[in-house]
Amino acid sequence: MKFHNAHADFFVPDNVDPDAALARTTHLCIAAHQDDIEIMAYHGIAECFGRKDRWFTGVVVTNGAGSPRDGIYGQYNDEEMQKVRLREQRKAAYVGEYACQIQLGYSSSAVKDPNHAGVRDDLTAIFRAAKPQVVYLHNLADKHDTHVGVTLRAISALRALAGEFRPEKVFGCEVWRDLDWLPDEHKQTLPVSARSNIAASLVGVFDSQVSGGKRYDLATQGRRLAHATYYASHATDVETALNYAMDLTPLITDPKSSIAGYVTGFIDLLKKDVAGRIGTLG
Ligand SMILES: [Zn+2]
Repeated sequence: MKFHNAHADFFVPDNVDPDAALARTTHLCIAAHQDDIEIMAYHGIAECFGRKDRWFTGVVVTNGAGSPRDGIYGQYNDEEMQKVRLREQRKAAYVGEYACQIQLGYSSSAVKDPNHAGVRDDLTAIFRAAKPQVVYLHNLADKHDTHVGVTLRAISALRALAGEFRPEKVFGCEVWRDLDWLPDEHKQTLPVSARSNIAASLVGVFDSQVSGGKRYDLATQGRRLAHATYYASHATDVETALNYAMDLTPLITDPKSSIAGYVTGFIDLLKKDVAGRIGTLG
């Protein structure tokens, strides 16, 4: 498969032919940065781990430029740091037994430019070749512009696909803003208790980020535990780890619907819930 950037990276942990590796995909995550996949889409990784009938593919759209660095990475220039981050993402793909790991190598500014055709074209080619049943994207209420940009490019690509290439389910997942605020009946609850050892390793291999002082490994685990505990006030916990997602499928099945209107509709529901409870109890 040919991508817009000549330096795009295509890694297949079990060394099968790249086209065959991508074609076996059932679960696909499109994320902005190295390590986002392992934070937001562990549900898909766990669903496919060790299976012969389900395969997880990860796509990282940006090149890791401008990453924070400290300790043994403190003296690395930007090019060296991009190589470290690319290698860390390959390590995660190996640990998680992904079908393949694609790193498209775009700058953040390219991702945020709606008129930049490269990102959308590459994502279209990936969707057509992978034909995933389940897709994991960033959620549209995320507070990181590059995350929202990547998701908008992915939605644009998905909306233009012929029906036979469209996934059955599209989740918008948690990184830079969790989804506890979504009213419970609109939360997509993704159980992620399975193989906590693998879940921990997947975030742990991104040493350049964790050793810089940001404990993404502990925070990711903590968020999942908090969600499982606080999901329902009366029920006994069945899961020890949960992720939440926003259902983005309606934006694909109805390609003309307003994206901002869809997301702010959930905010209106939260407002109604809060005002209603205060009104009733006041
Ligand atoms: Zn990110």
